[in-house]
Amino acid sequence: MIPNNESLGADGRPCREVEKNSVLIKARRSLRRRTSQRDLVMDAVRALPHPSAREIFDAVSVFAPLSFGTVYRNLQVLEEQGAIVRVEADPEVVRYDCRLAPHAHFRCLRCGRVFDFPAPIRVSVGKDADGFVVERRVVTLEGVCPECNQQPRSW
Ligand SMILES: [Zn+2]
Ligand SMILES: [Zn+2]
Repeated sequence: MIPNNESLGADGRPCREVEKNSVLIKARRSLRRRTSQRDLVMDAVRALPHPSAREIFDAVSVFAPLSFGTVYRNLQVLEEQGAIVRVEADPEVVRYDCRLAPHAHFRCLRCGRVFDFPAPIRVSVGKDADGFVVERRVVTLEGVCPECNQQPRSW
């Protein structure tokens, strides 16, 4: 009988679940397991909140000899494969998201962070509204995030 070794890593030892939000720990372990550059970039998109290409590069380049161009090319491939999507919530920079289901974003005007907005926004793709056919839904709300709202204004 052939043993089921799906849960074993490349070195034959069992894979362990890693901390979800620690891209650096994951990057280190990925390197040890000889994970591909693309997997490393994908892990960073999963671990960081709507990261830009520069933020992904900063997170992974400490542990892997990747250039910014390599990170960017891998992001393009992952986007073509449908594994990640671009987030157009930030006018300054393109950000990436591994959450593929349509959802609205909230950009904080004080700290600049982009969050997934928890409440549903009811506009459906394909709905015909007065002759307008919605093909894509990109919703960005702007305001003050809960954390910044706790702090006194600095001006
Ligand atoms: Zn904020
Ligand atoms: Zn998102």
